[in-house]
Amino acid sequence: MALMTLKNVNKYYLSGSDLRFHALKNINLSFNKGELVSIIGESGSGKSTLMNLIGGLDRDFEGEILVDGVNIGTYNENQRVMYNKEKIGFVFQSFNLIPHLNVLENVALAMTLSNVSKKIRVERAKKILAEVGLEKHYYKKPNQLSGGQKQRVAIARSLVNDPEIIIADEPTGALDSETADQVLQIFSEIAASGKLVLLVTHSERVAARSSRIVTIADGSIISDQEYPENQVYHSKEHLSRFSLTSRPKNRNLSFFAAMKLAFLNMKEKFSRSVLIALGGSIGIMSIILMLSLGSGVNAYLTNLMQEQVNPVVSEVRMPEPEEQETSNSSTSEITGDPTGMPMDPAQNSPVMRNDNVPFEQSDLETLENIDGVASLEKGYSTFSLGNNSIMYNDRYRSFMNFITMSSMITTANLSEGEFPQEGEILITQGIADSIGEDSIGKEVTVTLMMDGVITETDMVISGIFASSDAVGPTAVFDSIYMNYADVEAIAQANDIELQPNVVYLVAEDAQANARVKEEIKTLGYQGSAMESIAKLFTDMIDIFTYILAGVAGLSLFVSAIMILTVLYISVVERTQEIGVIKATGGRKKDIRRIFVSESFLIGVFSGSFGVGFAYILSIIGNRVVEQQFGTTIFLVEYQFIVMGMVISILLSVIAGLLPSVCASRLDPVEALRHE
Ligand code: ADP
Ligand code: MG
Repeated sequence: MALMTLKNVNKYYLSGSDLRFHALKNINLSFNKGELVSIIGESGSGKSTLMNLIGGLDRDFEGEILVDGVNIGTYNENQRVMYNKEKIGFVFQSFNLIPHLNVLENVALAMTLSNVSKKIRVERAKKILAEVGLEKHYYKKPNQLSGGQKQRVAIARSLVNDPEIIIADEPTGALDSETADQVLQIFSEIAASGKLVLLVTHSERVAARSSRIVTIADGSIISDQEYPENQVYHSKEHLSRFSLTSRPKNRNLSFFAAMKLAFLNMKEKFSRSVLIALGGSIGIMSIILMLSLGSGVNAYLTNLMQEQVNPVVSEVRMPEPEEQETSNSSTSEITGDPTGMPMDPAQNSPVMRNDNVPFEQSDLETLENIDGVASLEKGYSTFSLGNNSIMYNDRYRSFMNFITMSSMITTANLSEGEFPQEGEILITQGIADSIGEDSIGKEVTVTLMMDGVITETDMVISGIFASSDAVGPTAVFDSIYMNYADVEAIAQANDIELQPNVVYLVAEDAQANARVKEEIKTLGYQGSAMESIAKLFTDMIDIFTYILAGVAGLSLFVSAIMILTVLYISVVERTQEIGVIKATGGRKKDIRRIFVSESFLIGVFSGSFGVGFAYILSIIGNRVVEQQFGTTIFLVEYQFIVMGMVISILLSVIAGLLPSVCASRLDPVEALRHE
């Protein structure tokens, strides 16, 4: 039985709207093993069209092409791939070698696509290359070879999977006659080893050496002549030359091999790859820097607060009444002004004075019973403008913030002197300055408005409160600290019924304190003013950093489009390569995989660059800021790095999907048509 039989094959090309061009007309042919067939005919007569049909690259024809009794026109994509891989080897006029792979890799490509182990791949490729006389050129790139050598590489490539049929479309067209003869010699040896060689040619010399000449004109066979004298009989010596001892198991292109192919291509276009990765890295870098800045500033603030504050104490205040800002009268109720003095809005507007809502006995019991609370300290604080003052001799100074001592205040808060005992007060630096040098130990008169009543008490200054770095009103404003017992005494002396308006809960430990803080919120009480302000601040910083990171994210979008464009260009540039991969039995999936691998690698590189730059810049930034302000502001957390890498890779792969699908859909016939 003939190896291949064509029965009534007709091929039409659709050109224009309805015009059908009849490219092959009623072709009937059959071929056997060991034949060296020259297909000759004028340009445009249909030779390449016929070869594409026989090679399975074009399955759109009428009639039958039978191989092993099956019409290859009925193959599905997978069968087509297997047919190309196992039965057919292509050789082209323009060689179609892949420029970024060396000779060995070019030849081994078909086996790489089949995931054959590297050892077997190299062994087999070397053997075939030696057979075609290229044993000295394994590691050269195609552009380092002469035309004849390139064509021999292409022939080796076509032979590497031990196909039964070699299709060579004008293989000597680009070669001088001497080289052409050498190449032809190889083809006759291949035929002698028992394979069918179909040779499209213009050359009389080439045709004269073949065992059969088929002439095509205008899509029809006009002559089919055998020349048995040219038939090289299969000798034992020849039979084994180009054959496989055992056919490697057929598998798919491995992920790793796809990565390697992609990497080799990127290496070839090194500067372009570096530039893309740099472009892509800018967005990643900005995002990581923004997030690091946010977390650095937050960490700074939190740290600052914790330094100043006893970690086992929670400050509690009554919730603000809701209708606070609705009218003046309700404000006066809140501040509990019983003097009934006409209020001067300029002097006594709600913002000028803010007494907290007092705790009832029941509140105190509720708070003391919170799980984890070891003890409860009563406190009193008032914040006002103009009412409270301190007098030393004839020096008068008003202060805004009055607050009682508590466990909240630690020795870290003391810059000079001692904590106040009975009859003593702690003052901030601003007040100390206005009293004069060496304020500690001086007796002053403290004027304090309590519950609307103005009180005057003589007290001794025991120490100075350190407020340089703290956040919140206690730090920013001049403040006086006094023991609660003293405040009680002042109240009693002035007939004021004192109720605590701030409470300190001392927790069993720092862990319990976190739970206590939660519970305070759940019960509807307020935390410390300082905490709320810091919270507001950090919330604002968070929002700010997210907005900035979002803006930085826009550049990611730009880099995604850039990657998309570059991969599109790459697809266009590599059309021939894609055609070769398809013709050597590459599946759509394999081609997609190679391109997606490339975008994956771009993602890995730009992510790494981005992370690296962000890291370096944050170190530099921290150095500079530290010299100026004694603190660092960038905190690169490892989540940011992971996130940056993941975003970079995801984005690149997504950007690479479209071009890779386009590449995989390229028609091999179109892709391989030489200009
Ligand atoms: P040869 O290889 O013998 O020079 P081809 O097989 O390439 O010729 O082309 C045969 C005829 O089919 C030519 O007239 C060519 O213009 C036409 N042809 C080839 N490919 C296409 C195509 N994709 N669409 C329309 N016409 C085509
Ligand atoms: Mg042609």
